[in-house]
Amino acid sequence: MKIDVNANIMELNDAYAAKNRELFASDRMLTINIMGSPGAGKTTLLERLISDLQGKLNIAVIEGDLATAKDAKRIADCGCSVIQINTDGGCHLDAKMIDRVLPGFDLDAVDLLIIENVGNLVCPAGFDLGEDIRMVVLSVTEGDDKPAKYPGAFLAADWVVLNKMDLLEFTDFSTEKAFADMHSINPALSTFPVCCREGHVSGVATLAEAIMTAVAKKVGK
Ligand code: MG
Ligand code: ZN
Repeated sequence: MKIDVNANIMELNDAYAAKNRELFASDRMLTINIMGSPGAGKTTLLERLISDLQGKLNIAVIEGDLATAKDAKRIADCGCSVIQINTDGGCHLDAKMIDRVLPGFDLDAVDLLIIENVGNLVCPAGFDLGEDIRMVVLSVTEGDDKPAKYPGAFLAADWVVLNKMDLLEFTDFSTEKAFADMHSINPALSTFPVCCREGHVSGVATLAEAIMTAVAKKVGK
Protein backbone atom coordinates (compact mmCIF):
# COMPACT_ATOMS: atom_id res chain seq x y z
CA MET A 1 0.00 0.00 0.00
CA LYS A 2 1.28 3.46 -0.89
CA ILE A 3 0.50 6.29 1.48
CA ASP A 4 0.70 9.79 0.11
CA VAL A 5 2.19 11.61 3.11
CA ASN A 6 1.89 15.00 1.39
CA ALA A 7 -1.83 14.53 0.75
CA ASN A 8 -2.42 13.64 4.41
CA ILE A 9 -0.47 16.69 5.62
CA MET A 10 -2.45 18.99 3.33
CA GLU A 11 -5.76 17.43 4.34
CA LEU A 12 -4.99 18.03 8.01
CA ASN A 13 -3.84 21.58 7.25
CA ASP A 14 -7.00 22.35 5.28
CA ALA A 15 -9.18 21.10 8.18
CA TYR A 16 -7.43 23.48 10.62
CA ALA A 17 -7.53 26.31 8.06
CA ALA A 18 -11.31 25.87 7.74
CA LYS A 19 -11.63 25.94 11.54
CA ASN A 20 -9.54 29.14 11.71
CA ARG A 21 -11.54 30.75 8.90
CA GLU A 22 -14.79 30.02 10.72
CA LEU A 23 -13.43 31.60 13.91
CA PHE A 24 -12.18 34.70 12.02
CA ALA A 25 -15.69 35.07 10.53
CA SER A 26 -17.61 34.57 13.77
CA ASP A 27 -15.27 36.89 15.70
CA ARG A 28 -15.50 39.42 12.84
CA MET A 29 -11.89 40.09 11.88
CA LEU A 30 -9.92 40.35 8.65
CA THR A 31 -6.78 38.19 8.49
CA ILE A 32 -3.72 38.86 6.33
CA ASN A 33 -0.93 36.33 5.77
CA ILE A 34 2.36 38.06 4.87
CA MET A 35 4.92 36.04 2.91
CA GLY A 36 8.33 36.92 1.49
CA SER A 37 12.04 36.15 1.58
CA PRO A 38 14.18 36.87 4.65
CA GLY A 39 15.15 40.54 4.48
CA ALA A 40 12.32 41.59 2.14
CA GLY A 41 11.22 44.04 4.84
CA LYS A 42 8.09 42.29 6.15
CA THR A 43 8.48 43.39 9.78
CA THR A 44 9.41 46.98 8.90
CA LEU A 45 6.37 47.20 6.62
CA LEU A 46 4.27 45.85 9.48
CA GLU A 47 5.62 48.54 11.82
CA ARG A 48 4.68 51.25 9.30
CA LEU A 49 1.21 49.78 8.72
CA ILE A 50 0.57 49.55 12.45
CA SER A 51 1.47 53.20 12.96
CA ASP A 52 -0.94 54.14 10.12
CA LEU A 53 -3.81 51.92 11.30
CA GLN A 54 -3.53 52.22 15.07
CA GLY A 55 -6.45 54.16 16.51
CA LYS A 56 -8.63 53.08 13.56
CA LEU A 57 -8.42 49.31 14.04
CA ASN A 58 -7.62 46.95 16.89
CA ILE A 59 -4.68 44.95 15.50
CA ALA A 60 -3.22 41.62 16.63
CA VAL A 61 -0.07 40.07 15.16
CA ILE A 62 1.35 36.55 14.95
CA GLU A 63 5.08 36.46 14.18
CA GLY A 64 6.53 33.32 12.61
CA ASP A 65 10.27 32.76 12.79
CA LEU A 66 12.64 29.79 13.00
CA ALA A 67 14.12 31.19 16.19
CA THR A 68 14.15 34.25 18.50
CA ALA A 69 11.40 36.67 19.53
CA LYS A 70 13.16 39.67 17.91
CA ASP A 71 10.30 40.54 15.53
CA ALA A 72 7.62 40.06 18.22
CA LYS A 73 9.58 42.47 20.42
CA ARG A 74 9.55 45.08 17.61
CA ILE A 75 5.78 44.69 17.17
CA ALA A 76 5.12 44.77 20.93
CA ASP A 77 7.09 48.05 21.02
CA CYS A 78 4.44 49.45 18.60
CA GLY A 79 1.82 48.73 21.27
CA CYS A 80 0.21 45.75 19.49
CA SER A 81 -0.78 42.43 21.01
CA VAL A 82 1.60 39.91 19.47
CA ILE A 83 2.42 36.22 19.79
CA GLN A 84 5.66 34.74 18.49
CA ILE A 85 5.70 31.25 17.01
CA ASN A 86 9.15 29.66 16.75
CA THR A 87 9.13 26.82 14.25
CA ASP A 88 12.50 25.39 15.42
CA GLY A 89 13.81 25.06 11.89
CA GLY A 90 10.42 24.66 10.19
CA CYS A 91 10.32 26.79 7.05
CA HIS A 92 6.62 27.78 7.11
CA LEU A 93 3.64 28.27 9.40
CA ASP A 94 0.74 25.83 9.17
CA ALA A 95 -2.89 26.24 10.15
CA LYS A 96 -2.55 24.05 13.25
CA MET A 97 0.14 26.37 14.69
CA ILE A 98 -2.25 29.31 14.22
CA ASP A 99 -5.13 27.38 15.83
CA ARG A 100 -2.93 26.66 18.84
CA VAL A 101 -2.00 30.31 19.57
CA LEU A 102 -5.35 32.01 18.83
CA PRO A 103 -6.70 31.57 22.39
CA GLY A 104 -3.83 33.86 23.51
CA PHE A 105 -5.62 36.90 22.00
CA ASP A 106 -8.78 38.73 23.05
CA LEU A 107 -10.32 37.84 19.67
CA ASP A 108 -13.63 39.59 20.33
CA ALA A 109 -11.79 42.92 20.33
CA VAL A 110 -9.59 42.24 17.26
CA ASP A 111 -10.53 43.80 13.86
CA LEU A 112 -7.38 42.89 11.98
CA LEU A 113 -5.08 39.90 12.50
CA ILE A 114 -1.78 40.01 10.65
CA ILE A 115 0.32 36.87 10.39
CA GLU A 116 3.96 37.34 9.39
CA ASN A 117 5.01 34.00 7.94
CA VAL A 118 8.53 32.53 8.14
CA GLY A 119 10.87 34.27 5.66
CA ASN A 120 10.69 31.98 2.64
CA LEU A 121 9.27 32.45 -0.86
CA VAL A 122 8.52 28.75 -1.41
CA CYS A 123 6.44 26.56 0.90
CA PRO A 124 4.44 29.14 2.94
CA ALA A 125 2.43 29.57 -0.29
CA GLY A 126 1.27 25.95 -0.03
CA PHE A 127 -0.25 26.25 3.45
CA ASP A 128 -3.66 27.89 3.83
CA LEU A 129 -3.88 29.41 7.32
CA GLY A 130 -7.53 30.47 6.98
CA GLU A 131 -6.56 34.02 5.97
CA ASP A 132 -8.62 36.41 3.84
CA ILE A 133 -5.70 38.06 2.05
CA ARG A 134 -2.30 36.70 1.09
CA MET A 135 0.26 39.41 0.71
CA VAL A 136 3.71 38.79 -0.77
CA VAL A 137 6.45 41.30 0.03
CA LEU A 138 9.17 41.47 -2.64
CA SER A 139 11.98 44.00 -2.42
CA VAL A 140 13.70 45.50 -5.46
CA THR A 141 17.09 44.32 -4.13
CA GLU A 142 15.99 40.69 -4.62
CA GLY A 143 15.87 41.04 -8.43
CA ASP A 144 13.08 41.29 -10.99
CA ASP A 145 13.43 37.59 -11.93
CA LYS A 146 11.84 36.39 -8.68
CA PRO A 147 8.19 36.33 -9.80
CA ALA A 148 9.10 34.09 -12.76
CA LYS A 149 11.37 31.89 -10.59
CA TYR A 150 8.94 31.54 -7.67
CA PRO A 151 5.56 31.48 -9.42
CA GLY A 152 3.82 29.57 -6.61
CA ALA A 153 4.00 32.48 -4.18
CA PHE A 154 2.65 34.95 -6.76
CA LEU A 155 -0.07 32.57 -7.91
CA ALA A 156 -1.25 32.18 -4.31
CA ALA A 157 -1.09 35.92 -3.56
CA ASP A 158 -3.87 38.50 -3.62
CA TRP A 159 -1.58 41.48 -3.11
CA VAL A 160 2.11 42.06 -3.86
CA VAL A 161 3.99 44.82 -2.07
CA LEU A 162 7.10 45.94 -3.94
CA ASN A 163 9.34 47.23 -1.17
CA LYS A 164 12.53 49.33 -0.96
CA MET A 165 11.50 51.54 -3.89
CA ASP A 166 14.03 54.10 -2.61
CA LEU A 167 16.80 51.70 -3.72
CA LEU A 168 15.41 51.17 -7.24
CA GLU A 169 17.90 53.55 -8.86
CA PHE A 170 20.82 51.55 -7.44
CA THR A 171 19.63 48.24 -8.93
CA ASP A 172 18.88 46.77 -12.37
CA PHE A 173 15.37 45.90 -11.20
CA SER A 174 12.76 46.53 -13.92
CA THR A 175 9.36 47.20 -12.36
CA GLU A 176 7.75 46.77 -15.82
CA LYS A 177 9.24 43.28 -16.20
CA ALA A 178 8.42 42.24 -12.61
CA PHE A 179 4.81 43.45 -12.81
CA ALA A 180 4.36 41.90 -16.27
CA ASP A 181 5.65 38.53 -15.02
CA MET A 182 3.46 38.69 -11.89
CA HIS A 183 0.35 39.49 -13.90
CA SER A 184 1.03 36.75 -16.43
CA ILE A 185 1.17 34.31 -13.47
CA ASN A 186 -1.82 35.86 -11.70
CA PRO A 187 -3.85 38.51 -13.58
CA ALA A 188 -5.98 39.29 -10.47
CA LEU A 189 -3.00 40.53 -8.38
CA SER A 190 -3.04 44.02 -6.87
CA THR A 191 0.37 45.66 -6.56
CA PHE A 192 1.61 48.28 -4.11
CA PRO A 193 5.05 49.92 -4.55
CA VAL A 194 6.25 51.17 -1.15
CA CYS A 195 9.23 52.46 0.76
CA CYS A 196 9.36 51.86 4.51
CA ARG A 197 12.71 53.48 5.34
CA GLU A 198 12.62 56.11 8.06
CA GLY A 199 12.38 59.55 6.49
CA HIS A 200 11.59 58.12 3.01
CA VAL A 201 8.23 56.42 3.68
CA SER A 202 5.94 56.27 0.63
CA GLY A 203 3.04 54.13 -0.58
CA VAL A 204 2.22 52.78 2.88
CA ALA A 205 -0.88 55.00 3.26
CA THR A 206 -2.34 53.57 0.03
CA LEU A 207 -1.82 50.02 1.33
CA ALA A 208 -3.30 50.96 4.71
CA GLU A 209 -6.36 52.34 2.91
CA ALA A 210 -6.77 49.08 0.97
CA ILE A 211 -6.66 47.22 4.29
CA MET A 212 -9.31 49.54 5.78
CA THR A 213 -11.52 48.92 2.74
CA ALA A 214 -11.07 45.14 3.06
CA VAL A 215 -11.89 45.25 6.79
CA ALA A 216 -15.01 47.34 6.10
CA LYS A 217 -16.09 44.92 3.37
CA LYS A 218 -15.69 41.87 5.63
CA VAL A 219 -16.80 43.08 9.06
CA GLY A 220 -18.51 46.39 8.28
CA LYS A 221 -16.21 48.44 10.46
MG1 MG B 1 10.41 39.57 10.11
ZN1 ZN C 1 8.25 24.94 4.65
